[in-house]
Amino acid sequence: MNHIKTNTKEYDAIIVGAGFSGLYQLICLRDQLNLKCLVLETGDDVGGTWYWNRYPGARCDTESHAYSYYFSDDLLKEWTWTERYPGHAEIRKYMNFVADKFNLKKDISFKQKVTSAKFVESTNSWEIITNNSNNYKSKFLIAAVGCLSNTNTPNIKGLNDFNGQYYHTGNWPQNGVNFQNKKVGQIGTGSTGIQAVPVIAAEAQHLTVFQRTANYSIPARNKPLTDQFKKHVRENFNFYKELIKKTPNGHPFEISERLVSDVTEKEMNEIYEKAWEKGGLQFRATFNDLITNLEANKTASDFIKNKIIQTVKNKKFAKILSDIDHPYAGKRPPIDSHYFEAYNRDNIDLVDLKADPIEHVDKNGIKTLKNYFDLDIIVFATGYDAMTGPLLNMNVTGKNNLTLKEVWEEGPKTYLGIQVPGFPNLFTVTGPGSPSVLTNMPMAIEQHVEWIRDCIQFMLQKNYNTIEASKKDSEKWGEEVNKVANRTLLPTVKHSWYLGANIPGKPQVFMPYAGGLPRYSEICDDIKKENYKGFILA
Ligand SMILES: Cc1cc2nc3c(=O)[nH]c(=O)nc-3n(C[C@H](O)[C@H](O)[C@H](O)COP(=O)(O)OP(=O)(O)OC[C@H]3O[C@@H](n4cnc5c(N)ncnc54)[C@H](O)[C@@H]3O)c2cc1C
Repeated sequence: MNHIKTNTKEYDAIIVGAGFSGLYQLICLRDQLNLKCLVLETGDDVGGTWYWNRYPGARCDTESHAYSYYFSDDLLKEWTWTERYPGHAEIRKYMNFVADKFNLKKDISFKQKVTSAKFVESTNSWEIITNNSNNYKSKFLIAAVGCLSNTNTPNIKGLNDFNGQYYHTGNWPQNGVNFQNKKVGQIGTGSTGIQAVPVIAAEAQHLTVFQRTANYSIPARNKPLTDQFKKHVRENFNFYKELIKKTPNGHPFEISERLVSDVTEKEMNEIYEKAWEKGGLQFRATFNDLITNLEANKTASDFIKNKIIQTVKNKKFAKILSDIDHPYAGKRPPIDSHYFEAYNRDNIDLVDLKADPIEHVDKNGIKTLKNYFDLDIIVFATGYDAMTGPLLNMNVTGKNNLTLKEVWEEGPKTYLGIQVPGFPNLFTVTGPGSPSVLTNMPMAIEQHVEWIRDCIQFMLQKNYNTIEASKKDSEKWGEEVNKVANRTLLPTVKHSWYLGANIPGKPQVFMPYAGGLPRYSEICDDIKKENYKGFILA
């Protein structure tokens, strides 16, 4: 990589990414530690995930009162959400509110994609280059690049020949897409696809959904928040802060202690029915053993499959949609607004790609093994190169000229998901090996960002120049990540993106830490108390 040496701008800390992670990291390092900081961001505004994901139906699955920063009481008092789950536009408004309140934009450089970052051992600093050939030098490099910011568009033969338009949900045009009078094909039925289907179907002339993997989904039951609930949240944010911090997934509800075997079948069905009516991710919290015991999980899986069959009137569609081959919540559990009901419309078709796979795209549409679909627009709801993709995309080179790509050839190796051995002073917010995508992420982000702040403060107080994760402790951490994952059903789902299975050629390693946010936070706190045990300080 050619590192330009002229016009280098120098900083104490460069933060990559202006989403939840990057904004709070800037507040912590600039305003609390008085460091000279700069945020580099590919997009032209703050928002991260919600800057890019403006697809029809894009909405948070975390309830709004939990999908918030909790570090500032003033901010909690000043901001009020309007719906049970915030939509993408409202989250962008929130992120802009935060950026304005803390005067963040003056230290963010937009339209600057980091294309290379190299650790220079002679100066113990990072040299960073962006796509505009801007050159920066910084003691600390904080990758706040997100877990889901690298879109995955499958390499389908002939796509470039398509005469219509095609879009990935994670890189949606800022001014939207007009589906009126259009024949649309949507590939993918994960959390995103499930949100998009009902909205696109309501607008388009016709929608064909191409499903590779059938998926569970629970009704979100989104609704405007009442004034009473808004007041309740404003007056009780300390209660919610504590609750969110103590639950394994960082959501604002407790996971029940009871096991499926503790109740009768009738009671079990009543519990599921009530949770279905209430809606949302709380369905997962109805019993303690849903994620650890296959037999218990089967009761929830069967309940949802029955709901699908009852909802979808077309028998063929109902069979394809309920033919689910993995345990409930073994993959990221979607929630929806009238997803299964959308298949009762006259203008929708469903293709089971397991029985009728895509062969190629041509100028007019998609050819499957058995059929042809004439299309004006193709929507790729095909997800992300999750967790490792955005980090690898920065072309990071550490000590001894070793690249992150080389070091992670067999899968990500980190200490706590915060640092990688051989890459001093590089911190990864919600990196692989941390709870990240298994949690309500703003909570996991706050924990990481504050830990990184405290670590840097410690280094400055003690006059350390570098910090680097020890190889031995990183290996031990990798074993811990595997051990806790294997206590759950999550690694058994072999086509899950948690394992990297959605990306051809990606090493299949279970990436997030499944031991829960409270336990993880405790481990991080203990390491901090022991003067950053497991890290090499020099
Ligand atoms: C569709 C969707 C729905 C989601 N729903 C939920 C939910 O319900 N609950 C939940 O907790 N989480 C959800 N998430 C996860 C979401 O990513 C996090 O909640 C949160 O937004 C992550 O914030 P972040 O700042 O860490 O990363 P991001 O929001 O991804 O921001 C990272 C930023 O880094 C920038 N960046 C990346 N690489 C570079 C580079 N090389 N150079 C410069 N800039 C770069 C990107 O442009 C992006 O703006 C969802 C994610 C998606 C995609």
